[in-house]
Amino acid sequence: MNDPPARGETAQTLDRGLRLLYLVAQANSGVSPTEAAAQLGVGRAVIYRLAGTLIEHGLVRRDRSGRLRLGPGVLQLARRVQPLLAEAALPVLRRLADDAGATAHLTIAEGSEAVAMVVVEPTWTQFHVAYRMGSRHPLERGAAGRAILAGRAGDAEVVVSEGELQPGAYGVATPVLGVDGLAASVGVGMPGALSPASGLVMNSNSVCLNGRALAQDLARLLPLPLRFENDANCFALSEAVDGAAKGARAVFGVIVGTGTGGGLVFDGHVWTGRNAIAGEWGHNPLPRPGPEETPGPPCYCGRTGCIETWLSGPGLARDYARASGLRAEPAEIAARAEKGDVGAEAALARYEGRMARALAGIVNVVDPDVIVLGGGLSNLQRLYENVPRLLAQHVMSEEVRTTLVRAAHGDSSGVRGAAWLWE
Ligand SMILES: [Zn+2]
Repeated sequence: MNDPPARGETAQTLDRGLRLLYLVAQANSGVSPTEAAAQLGVGRAVIYRLAGTLIEHGLVRRDRSGRLRLGPGVLQLARRVQPLLAEAALPVLRRLADDAGATAHLTIAEGSEAVAMVVVEPTWTQFHVAYRMGSRHPLERGAAGRAILAGRAGDAEVVVSEGELQPGAYGVATPVLGVDGLAASVGVGMPGALSPASGLVMNSNSVCLNGRALAQDLARLLPLPLRFENDANCFALSEAVDGAAKGARAVFGVIVGTGTGGGLVFDGHVWTGRNAIAGEWGHNPLPRPGPEETPGPPCYCGRTGCIETWLSGPGLARDYARASGLRAEPAEIAARAEKGDVGAEAALARYEGRMARALAGIVNVVDPDVIVLGGGLSNLQRLYENVPRLLAQHVMSEEVRTTLVRAAHGDSSGVRGAAWLWE
């Protein structure tokens, strides 16, 4: 009779095979079938059958002396876990292992444990350590785990350990920083800011967020380290790090779109400020207002005549409509001005004058190297010629060397900056 094997029997074979695989993975220098038989409490014949199957699948190989070692199939399985990471690391680790004559590895954090993702032994040495792909140990123990902890603390130093994971074995590790996928973290670019006093959202023009526990809610849903920053600050950071203001020490980023926001970055770091409102320039009053600008339009923040009510896209459209009686979006106003429409041209000229007055306030206080414009209205090419010229009338300096540039990363700068919060 050809009865199928009982379920228990099949599971037992699989279980033994897996245990043999773990045994091989953990052994210093491979395992002989006799040793494996003794350790697993089975006969050598069983070990030969199990090993034969594992060898067929490439998970185990037999070395020249007949000892069982991990096979390249394990590598392929491991690659499935973190394909890009393992792919990129392997040639580098191979070189490192052979140059240093030591086992080289890339270890990642998984919860509170360090897991060896890729381990490469030198091709030319007989000394082997018991560090294999998939080896796990607490982050606090061993050079690799402690290097990960140091990296999280912003410390890129080399960590050395002696005998922490294996007697007589030395570990040298350094955190790998700035590579996507090595550690997951989340940066959130948000309208408004988190109140330093309550931790709740404040100052958001998405007013439904105000007073809400965004940080706590996200922390509950995402078990990852989170950082929050105002979206205009994120924008300024993105442009300061590797965008239109790359290399500048002091950068003021301005978003002129549906709203008007600003952010300050010094030496590649966002300046959040004591009240988490640094750069919150859109709700200052428009400087030197003329009679027709007083008291100014009402703002969602409860005040009137805020810079935002003049420099945002709706602000420009409102001003144009008020003067001409015509409705048009900012892009259409610009198109009309280009065709010689006097009303549209006048609206843009007023807009540029207001932007110059508003920015002069920033220049007089912060004196940034570069001002970067983002948002829909940053597409108005004429701003970059006219505003710097007008700026000179209001800035307390005989010469204005501040440059006004258009964002290099456009709408992506907000999310890019949120990611840069982790640098
Ligand atoms: Zn306001």
